[in-house]
Amino acid sequence: MSLINPNGYYGEFGGAFVPELLYNIVEELQNSYLKIIHSQEFESEYNNLLRDYVGRPTPLYLARNLSKKYGTQIYLKREDLNHTGAHKINNTVGQILIAKKLGKSRIIAETGAGQHGVATATVCALMGLQCIVYMGEVDIERQAPNVARMKMLGAEVRPASSGSKTLKDATNEAIRDWINNPYDTHYIIGSVVGPHPYPDMVSRLQAIISEEMRKQLLEKTGSELPTAVVACVGGGSNAAGAFYHFLEEPEVQLIAVEAAGLGINSGQTAATTAVGKAGILHGNKSLLMQTSDGQVVEPYSISAGLDYPGIGPMHAHLFTSGRGKYISATDQEALTAAIELARLEGIIPALETAHAFAALNQLHFKEDDVVVVNLSGRGDKDLSTYIQNLSL
Ligand SMILES: *Cc1c(COP(=O)(O)O)cnc(C)c1O
Repeated sequence: MSLINPNGYYGEFGGAFVPELLYNIVEELQNSYLKIIHSQEFESEYNNLLRDYVGRPTPLYLARNLSKKYGTQIYLKREDLNHTGAHKINNTVGQILIAKKLGKSRIIAETGAGQHGVATATVCALMGLQCIVYMGEVDIERQAPNVARMKMLGAEVRPASSGSKTLKDATNEAIRDWINNPYDTHYIIGSVVGPHPYPDMVSRLQAIISEEMRKQLLEKTGSELPTAVVACVGGGSNAAGAFYHFLEEPEVQLIAVEAAGLGINSGQTAATTAVGKAGILHGNKSLLMQTSDGQVVEPYSISAGLDYPGIGPMHAHLFTSGRGKYISATDQEALTAAIELARLEGIIPALETAHAFAALNQLHFKEDDVVVVNLSGRGDKDLSTYIQNLSL
């Protein structure tokens, strides 16, 4: 099912480019993650927590009003109904169990929108482990409710003040911390990025999304396979989870939506597949927004969770191989889609998720096509941005 080879590559993308000080630690994780994930003990703990703590399975909901508007059958995979409000917790529940098996006592994480920070602080509280979350100064400001949540859960939030003061910079700080504390610390990366095995490990922990989708589609439509699956892409973890069990079903269209920011040619964008080239960042080779001499370009999106200059290596491979279709939506298109979903279905999506809904305007489906939109998270954390931009 997984497209990765034993060396951690998806086609030409992936690998583990880490400083020598981290080499042994990353290798230990490479050698143990599949054994742990496939152990009966892990499977039973992970599935019990997903059911009783996270609230899975999440519903697959036929959005009748949205379907009517777009003239097709649109189902929403309700990851917004997970505990802590997004898909991120699927990954942190899995990784905290892996960290415990490896005997780690200290957890670090990076966060953009704060959802991954909250999901990490949550599982650390649950398991009684120390938690330090790195977050860009700009994001600390635009995602204040999530900063307060992390603190209330007992985590320490450390500001990242370099570069654009957003997700990329928080990731740099987290990697620096890991280099200084390699033995007692597990770094819970929040998306399908980072050195091998993170992209594959996080994909497998998010794959529960498409595993459930197949069963639910069979029940509701008579077929396990939809016409298309649509998901937004920051690093690409909710999309990886939503695509995973359809990767080898060529008739299922995989549609990924990146943040165009002010427009893909505006210089203020996070649409990596539109403007990026192959390069190495945060431990893996992937597509990356960069200048002609290889300097990382500061990304921009109204949505903190999509404000990242790269994408996971699996997505770079799906894009270059043509298996996935990669499109983008601007800030304005996402805001319009958010209010449309709120008014038509009574669901306020996260700003990240709103980008996936904005794609419906760019796509054409037939009346009896089945389209699943992965509703990656809820919009509570974005209310202040919605208030400012939608004159509420
Ligand atoms: C973090 C986040 C994203 C973006 O991250 P991916 O790894 O690309 O999924 C998307 N939606 C929500 C709600 C998020 O919190």
